[in-house]
Amino acid sequence: MAFRKKFTPKRKFCRFCADKNLPLDYKRPDILRDYVTERGKIIARRITGTCAKHQRRLTVEIKRARQMALLFYTTVHSTEVKKKTV
Ligand SMILES: [Zn+2]
Repeated sequence: MAFRKKFTPKRKFCRFCADKNLPLDYKRPDILRDYVTERGKIIARRITGTCAKHQRRLTVEIKRARQMALLFYTTVHSTEVKKKTV
């Protein structure tokens, strides 16, 4: 309560219900990335506030995105890349 984290929204709500135009699609890893941790884990519904219906689809889309190499399974290789480029 004393401090707010940068990435946690103050109020929980389902982003996909709030914005009907927001695509829930494996082709949009930029959006899906908000729902996985830095370590590549899917963030629990009670934290993101996503509704059951969308969370279920989200999980499927994230898994799909991983297979398409749009999202990472773990952070391992992404940090490897950073180390090399920086
Ligand atoms: Zn929803």
